[in-house]
Amino acid sequence: MLIAGACVANRAHAAGGGAGSGSGSGVSGAHAAADAKGAGTARRSLRSARTASRPQAYRLRPEAGQLAAQARGSTSVTYTLDSGDSRGREIALTFDDGPDPLWTPKVLEVLRRWRVQATFCVIGREAAAHTHLLNAIADGGHEIANHSWSHPLLTRMRPAQVHEQLARTCDVVDEAVGSPPVLARAPFGEWNDRTLEISASLGMSPLGWSVDTSDWEEPGTRKITATVLRHTSPGAVLLSHDGGGNRSQTVAALRDYLPRLLDSGYIPVLPSGAAAFRNRTGEGWGG
Ligand SMILES: [Zn+2]
Repeated sequence: MLIAGACVANRAHAAGGGAGSGSGSGVSGAHAAADAKGAGTARRSLRSARTASRPQAYRLRPEAGQLAAQARGSTSVTYTLDSGDSRGREIALTFDDGPDPLWTPKVLEVLRRWRVQATFCVIGREAAAHTHLLNAIADGGHEIANHSWSHPLLTRMRPAQVHEQLARTCDVVDEAVGSPPVLARAPFGEWNDRTLEISASLGMSPLGWSVDTSDWEEPGTRKITATVLRHTSPGAVLLSHDGGGNRSQTVAALRDYLPRLLDSGYIPVLPSGAAAFRNRTGEGWGG
């Protein structure tokens, strides 16, 4: 049975003339923000009622901060974290295109060994086929982000199709772990005004990246490690992949560079729980 959740509530909301109605102009942050704010109260009450009966172990970020809540439903793409914390060394590790029954557990194992939390941008279709992996991700304290249902180029789809791609994935995550994602990453990092508004109407903020490990090209473990160590700086959002192909190099590189990043004083965090976002919009969407 599908439990009515945030995404479901917002689907009705969007159909009522919010996102995808074509009424907005430009990015229309105020428009989307107002929509998200209006739906927020209903979402929160739905969520508290729903999660009350869910196992605590499957809660994501039970102590989610106020800033994370404020960022929810934003149309501003986050490419880097605001490193305004006292040490200024926060970074975010993100893994796309899973969950994958072979590679996701291996990534989780490395993260567990170093007690590091990361963000998994899941493809809904894969998530639906491997819901136990969603639970494993959530149980590890990691964040699950929406990476569409089947990884299409959203900017070439009709609004209703975009909504379906994102909403179905929200529902799968919500059903499995007890709360819907608050972050979305468009396939290929390709957003436009319309897709950003639809994502916001579903209560999600868009997540980009600043360091592409290019692991999907399978350039070799050493090359991936070198890319990470060379380009990581405070606030960096790293992009890797735990699905979509042979990710043995991704896993081997992670084993190599993660302890080195930690030795350098970097603190991997969850983007939605970071001290704050430093948002960059405009050119360069998709990194
Ligand atoms: Zn992807």
